[in-house]
Amino acid sequence: MAELIFDAPAVKKKSPIHLADLTVAERKARAEELGLPAFRANQLAVHFFTHHSDDMESFTDIPKELRAPLTDAFLPKLLTLVRSVTCDGGKTRKDLWRLHDGVLVESVLMRYTDRTTVCISSQAGCGMQCPFCATGQAGLTRNLTAAEITAQVVMAAKACDLGEMPGGPTRLSNVVFMGMGEPMANYKSVMQSIRNITNPQPDGLGIGARSVTLSTVGLVSGIEKLIAEDLPVTLAISLHTPDDELRDSLVPVNSRWKVKEVLAAADKYEAKTGRRYSIEYALIRDINDQAWRADLLGRMLKNKNAHVNLIPLNPTPGSKWTASRAEDEAAFVEILEGYGVPVTVRDTRGREIDGACGQLAASQIDNNS
Ligand code: SAH
Repeated sequence: MAELIFDAPAVKKKSPIHLADLTVAERKARAEELGLPAFRANQLAVHFFTHHSDDMESFTDIPKELRAPLTDAFLPKLLTLVRSVTCDGGKTRKDLWRLHDGVLVESVLMRYTDRTTVCISSQAGCGMQCPFCATGQAGLTRNLTAAEITAQVVMAAKACDLGEMPGGPTRLSNVVFMGMGEPMANYKSVMQSIRNITNPQPDGLGIGARSVTLSTVGLVSGIEKLIAEDLPVTLAISLHTPDDELRDSLVPVNSRWKVKEVLAAADKYEAKTGRRYSIEYALIRDINDQAWRADLLGRMLKNKNAHVNLIPLNPTPGSKWTASRAEDEAAFVEILEGYGVPVTVRDTRGREIDGACGQLAASQIDNNS
């Protein structure tokens, strides 16, 4: 196995500091350091987290001469939109963002009848090398800062406020860490971003922790740390197969933490938070979709507070793998249900806009090279 990357390469050019990287006390200290009144930092936090604005023209409660220095100190522009693509009649929108150093990341906004969800990236690229994932194939470029992660959510919330999705203005209700990157490999910034997302206004966006899903390949050390936090987010484990033999190649981090250890960590998380966890399972034709694997998975999960989310594989360009046949998918569902395991098949939103993890950024990089 090639080496998995748990520590991102050093950032070449440091990302500008933003209030979403700082605690309330740190914001105050930074304001004082710069000779700016501390309460002004809180006013900027209200603009950012409550009004979803980083445009100083809208800061009418701040004297004109202070707007530029305060914006430079606390709200530097972190994300520049490169392009947006939509599908599902506009109800799915994928945004490609350029960061200050030219690095590209993507987020996807999805409007459903009962909720609006944004899928965000935690790293530029990913070091986990799952062979069916577009992001994994490009490797890890760098970790995102807490503010770069948070800003994706704020931009999505702003799009909802402005009624950019069909159906008129709405409230962003859910956040899933299922874009580019392995959130547990960028633990500190991801936790700070979750605090920004879940803290009540004015110190955060005020989205309930239960409406935030953290999806991981199964870095047990990260799950253990999460258990120690008081943050009852929904945990999703990208299992993809119940047997170690196949998982060693589908999810290479399995060579470090085996299926049993990952499920034990998820159970411990469930015991601490009472939160049902999700098992993500990309169904790949003739690779992991056999009845015996469904049976093994069913037996493993039957008495657990877990739910299985089957994802038809979205083949990456040049992939030799494809989604399962309809009859195999149906049989897989039926076997799991036979064990009383709740199971859903994820709708394939965004498929025609390179909706699967990392594909839009990958196609943009290809176009540029
Ligand atoms: N690194 C994290 C989160 C990012 S990916 C994780 O692995 O959980 C979010 C989900 O999409 C994961 O379950 C991942 O395995 C899955 N995924 C990645 N590429 C896919 C593809 N081509 N088709 C279907 N699901 C895919």
